[in-house]
Amino acid sequence: MVEPNEPLSAASQSPFYLALESALARRGTTIEAICPPDDQVAQRVLHDYGAMFVGSEDILPPPLCVFANEDQVSRFQKAAGRAAATIGDAVIELQPAAMTAFLKARAAARANGLDISPRDGAEAARRSYADTVRLWNSRFLPGLIHWAGLERLTAEAAERLRALPVVEQVPEVLELEKAEIFFSKCLSKSVLYSIAAPGTSQHIAMLAFDANEFRDERVREILARFGWFQTVLSDLPHFTFLGLAEAELPARGLKSVDVDGQRFWIPDV
Ligand SMILES: [Zn+2]
Repeated sequence: MVEPNEPLSAASQSPFYLALESALARRGTTIEAICPPDDQVAQRVLHDYGAMFVGSEDILPPPLCVFANEDQVSRFQKAAGRAAATIGDAVIELQPAAMTAFLKARAAARANGLDISPRDGAEAARRSYADTVRLWNSRFLPGLIHWAGLERLTAEAAERLRALPVVEQVPEVLELEKAEIFFSKCLSKSVLYSIAAPGTSQHIAMLAFDANEFRDERVREILARFGWFQTVLSDLPHFTFLGLAEAELPARGLKSVDVDGQRFWIPDV
């Protein structure tokens, strides 16, 4: 079940949509081409993870809000280019401009007796389509068991959802979450605040890094100085490479929201 979207005219006049429209025009594309307006999941993705689409000209944002398969993801990642670095035991990969800025930020942190290290190894940076499906299942499948156990879902409903193709599971889960049947790790908030829907992650775009040291204000300041910001509300360890100075972000249609002493720059829709 897909509910009618909010009036498109309201969203399309928001600071984010106006900035996005001109950012995409410079790249020869349109909002409708990357995110079909009647696709509820694509629109959620744009509003929750959309900051990467208005980043600097040095990065390549995905050509689609939702990648459908591994082939599309590999072609995009090849076009964007991949730079690798070894941090501890992990080989992390990012878009070249994102990696350059990350390594500078890390050097600045270490010069100050701090560190910026990958959370959960290689998965902290680039992910494949298959990685995003595996992460989805790590929230979706335990959620089904939990809610069936509480009889908020019947066993038949849970089994039907489990058997659906993954792209059809996502809108069904978002629908259940409207009734507070949540699928995040803690089962108390939307799954999209816990992990990205398959094919949608900023990690697929190679513009995201999950840092162990996200609670350290000095680390966050250093990352921001090198163009890395928190852009996904509630995803605390997750930083996005925008390649811009903080002062430039409002003109890109992003607004700041402070949560638990951390500053997020999210699409102003
Ligand atoms: Zn992340």
